[in-house]
Amino acid sequence: MNDTAAAAQEREVLAQVPRRLFIDGAWAESSTGDTLQVQDPATNATIAVIADAGPDDGIRALDAAVAAQHSWAATPPRTRGEVLRGAWQLLQDRADELALLITLEMGKPLTEAHAEVTYGSEFLRWFGEEAVRVTGRYGTNPEGTGRALVTERPVGPCFFITPWNFPLAMATRKIAPALAAGCTVVLKPAELTPLTSLYLASVFEEAGLPPGVLNVITTSASAAVSAPIIADPRLRKLSFTGSTSVGVALLKQAADNVLRTSMELGGNAPFLVFEDADLDAAVHGAMVAKFRNIGQACTAANRFLVHVSIAEEFTARLVRHVRGLVPGRGTEPDTTIGPLIDARAVTKIGQLVEDAVARGGRVLHGGAALDRPGNFFAPTVLTDVPIEADIAREEIFGPVVSVIPFSSEAEAVASANATEYGLVGYAYTQDLERAQRLIETLETGMLGLNAGAVSNAAAPFGGVKQSGLGREGGREGIHEYLETKYVMTPDPFG
Ligand code: NAP
Repeated sequence: MNDTAAAAQEREVLAQVPRRLFIDGAWAESSTGDTLQVQDPATNATIAVIADAGPDDGIRALDAAVAAQHSWAATPPRTRGEVLRGAWQLLQDRADELALLITLEMGKPLTEAHAEVTYGSEFLRWFGEEAVRVTGRYGTNPEGTGRALVTERPVGPCFFITPWNFPLAMATRKIAPALAAGCTVVLKPAELTPLTSLYLASVFEEAGLPPGVLNVITTSASAAVSAPIIADPRLRKLSFTGSTSVGVALLKQAADNVLRTSMELGGNAPFLVFEDADLDAAVHGAMVAKFRNIGQACTAANRFLVHVSIAEEFTARLVRHVRGLVPGRGTEPDTTIGPLIDARAVTKIGQLVEDAVARGGRVLHGGAALDRPGNFFAPTVLTDVPIEADIAREEIFGPVVSVIPFSSEAEAVASANATEYGLVGYAYTQDLERAQRLIETLETGMLGLNAGAVSNAAAPFGGVKQSGLGREGGREGIHEYLETKYVMTPDPFG
């Protein structure tokens, strides 16, 4: 495709995206009349101007969700499931269009955007199937004096706050189980990547979702718009994906009304490579675990803990692969690594690398921002990084590998667990007993065992410690949106 045709295709996709707020099944202007600009992180050019909601719009969206709650909960589960399945089908039909949109607003290479469409849309299909499997039980109490009936009811109106790094999947991972369970939703996507959520709302509209069941408010005033919604006694559930610091602040707000909460927060994933690992597999896994999404994933490997006997060989092989990465705008066919989300991210990662080097780390590849328009940081490999360096303690959220050698399994596990985070870990070993020990000793909600990626709609995604509360996906995911109700009745024969 030549440049003019590609630019025309981009304009065509952007023209499909609604520019207004989606409230009660209608597209509405912001009550403030304000707008916000959305930028392409590869060029920093403005690609869309959309409605910028104020606090009143947030409450209007909640009004709509509250009004729709009763009838949506009373809608047969099969019908709810079919709406989800219909939306899934529409996303399959429009995968090319949606992938391009994700790349334009978030920056990831098109192949990765396609993978996000597959992964993100799968939640609609999975939970469309789960909608009809919500069951209860009926039984005699141990004394024989009564019957206990246990049933699952929808939690009620939900408020979702999502981050910019997976604009589709972070939204569908919440929306799909909520809708399947019979809950209504207000979604506030990140200011940096709101277009995918608006597009998704238009897909649900087309799939026949009744008005008010899903509402989307885009805003540059996330705190001011969110706080009144969270404080409103009609809200029943808050689900947040984002940084631990914002999650902690939201949990405090949610405490006032004793809201149900789900929190998918930050990570500091250890990637352990033992002396008995298949090194080719470990290097392949490391590339996926580190460079997918330009390193901007909560599941990104943050600390490469490598046995001292193989650290040099592992690092050398990794550097060869990293040299092959092609930075560029995600829309370009050769690009294998895109830009960071904004200039702030470039500065922050530069500082982390500087700190690691000042403490004795060595740069084997990259190490600085790229001298080109947009927010590009060179894919980087650091070795001999001391465990006390900031880069080993903070979430990097960028394309930097830092290798930290270890000399025993006990030392590796202790280092891996020496963090307040506990989202995911990765471990490469061919020793079965060691693998079993790691399953039991690594303090994470998920583990990639000889695997560099863990995300799957059919699996329970989530963390322990300060990485979060609750699970998204799998059979577990729908329970975040259900309340257990128990009914006691007398013995009908007694
Ligand atoms: P963030 O700064 O915490 O923002 C996440 C969302 O919260 C955005 O929609 C943001 O809105 C909103 N927000 C920020 N401050 C708020 C406030 N005071 N009140 C209400 N909403 C507020 O995180 P991010 O930079 O977008 O995302 C990166 C983080 O997300 C990383 O820490 C990553 O690990 C984490 N993450 C976790 C998972 C997981 O499943 N565990 C998945 C993906 C990402 P605005 O952007 O509009 O301000």
